[in-house]
Order: sequence, then C-alpha cells, then structure tokens
Amino acid sequence: MKQIRCNKCGKIIPERNDILLEDVFEGKKEWGYFSQKDLQVDTFYLCEACYERMTKDFVIPVKVEHKKEVL
Ligand SMILES: [Zn+2]
Repeated sequence: MKQIRCNKCGKIIPERNDILLEDVFEGKKEWGYFSQKDLQVDTFYLCEACYERMTKDFVIPVKVEHKKEVL
C-alpha cells in the first residue's frame, strides 16, 4: 500500500499494517467527452481538517446522511 498524503496540506495519513488510522476523503474524477480533459483521470486526497475547510465554503452545504451501520 502506498503512503497516502493530503493533497492540500501534505499531511501524511498515518497507517499501521496497511490500515489507515485516520479516515481520508478520496476524490476521483474520470473526465469525459464534454470537457477539456477527455480520458483524463484525476485523483486526490484530503485529510478531514482540509475537507472541513473546503466544504464549509460551499454555498450549498454538503448533503449529509447517517448510515445505521457500517457496510
Ligand atoms: Zn490536509
């Protein structure tokens, strides 16, 4: 497993035995035909603090749902 770092602040997401000890946001986008990046695949990670900072600037808040159990 490769080391995961937050793309925004560079923080290393700690792991032990290939298990992440902090949860991390993974953004992945496969750009399509109606973009300037057709066939390009972008991936980035955000630590929880950077995720909070980014999403609190949203005009429309993040849709939040609560699961009853971990799947
Ligand atoms: Zn970060």
